Parts: sequence; C-alpha cells; structure tokens
Amino acid sequence: MTSRRPMVVGNWKLHKTTAEAAQLVRAIKGKLAGARDTEVGVAPVFTALETVGKALEGSNIRLCGQDVHFEDQGAFTGEVSAPLLSDVACSMCIVGHSERRQLFGETDETVRKKLGALLSHELTPIVCIGETLEQREAGKALDVVRGQLDAAYQGVSAEQAAATVIAYEPVWAIGTGRTASPGDAQEVHEAIRARLRETYGAVADGVRLLYGGSVKPNNAADLMAQGDIDGALVGGASLEADSFVAIAEAAG
Ligand code: PEP
Repeated sequence: MTSRRPMVVGNWKLHKTTAEAAQLVRAIKGKLAGARDTEVGVAPVFTALETVGKALEGSNIRLCGQDVHFEDQGAFTGEVSAPLLSDVACSMCIVGHSERRQLFGETDETVRKKLGALLSHELTPIVCIGETLEQREAGKALDVVRGQLDAAYQGVSAEQAAATVIAYEPVWAIGTGRTASPGDAQEVHEAIRARLRETYGAVADGVRLLYGGSVKPNNAADLMAQGDIDGALVGGASLEADSFVAIAEAAG
C-alpha cells in the first residue's frame, strides 16, 4: 500500500480576531515540535488569512481557506476566489463543509465546481462529505457519502484526484461532542476508498481520508489508528493550541 502522510487541519470556523488568530498560530508553531511527520494546516476566517500566513512564515504549517467561489472574479458580492486565496499564501481549501451545505445552500453541484476551481489553481482541496443522523439511522450512510463523492468528483481525472484530500464528517458528530466510533468511522472510510478505487484504481491508495466530528485529544489516536483514517479535520478542539497540538501529535 502507498504510504500516506498523516494530515491534521484545524477549522477555526467563525472564530478569532486577527490578533487572536496570530496568537493562536504562534502558540501552535511553538508547541508543534513533536509532530514533525504530520502535515498540519489551519483554516482561519478570510479576514485573518493574511495575518496568519505571515505568522506562519518559516514553518511547515499550511494555510487553508474555509470555502471558495468557483469563478475567479466577477460580480459575486461577498465571495472569495481560488486566485485570491493563493494571493494570501493559502495552499489548501475546504469545500462542501456540512455547515455550508446545511446553512448556506451548498449543493453537490457547487461543491463539484469549487473542487474544479481549486484544482485548476493548484490549491489542495479538502472535500467534506458525510451523512445526517436521519440518513444514518435509515441505514443510508454509505449510499449518501458515495453519492456526494461521485457528484463532487465528476470530471476529475485520476491525476487530479491524487492531489485531493477527503474529509468524512458525519453531520451528527460535528460540534456535538458525539464522535463516530473508530469502527464505524473506518467502515465509511473504507467504503470511500473502495469507491475511489473503482473510479481511479491504485490512485485511491494515495488519497488521504480525514475524519472530522468532535475529534479531541482523548479520541484522536484511536480514530487515526484505523487503516483508512489518515488524519483529522478538527473544529472546536483546534481553537486551543494545546488540544490541537495533542491531536496533531496523536496522528504522527
Ligand atoms: C468541523 O467543523 O469540521 C468539525 C469537525 O468540528 P468539530 O471538531 O467541532 O466537531
């Protein structure tokens, strides 16, 4: 099997002023020495990207957007494009987060277009997929994530797919303190990789699959010890340097 470098990314959502963001990232930088094998990223709000990018200079921590518009420029009030993310030193971006899907009308179609925009500008996409509690209880979790995956990757070549990262985030586990068991999470990750293999063959073995949903220092190691879980997308626990760094260390 291709070896996959662990990845841990902090999604700061709508938190932190520029000063607070800079302080947090300096603290993370200072404490990260133990997690050298893990690729680490942080996703601040758009207004803090430039400041955090400067604070990250001289480190390997990657700067990540939380969302992107699929057009490069134009009459799209309130949006930020892939070239503009690159302009402030972002090298990655989250797309299809369930909060975007549930609260802001993100659809499979817009996720597909956003994924295409990131790939054409050589930003690493973190494509979020995951089922709701209702869908899980109806036994549809695997069908839902396969459907979201197929929709997002329509038109994506094997070479492009190899450059992507996928985050499986069960909606019922995000911000709730309720985590998928390592076994349940692994089952879905395995199904995602199997689907990628059907479409892209051996490329699937190199694609990193992150788990997201109430990852904390006390559950991170068990989740990331699963064969198809290559890291974590972390919300709440990424807002404090100690808990985020403990999760990054658990991945390495
Ligand atoms: C997220 O927002 O991607 C997330 C996983 O949040 P939390 O860790 O707070 O559940």
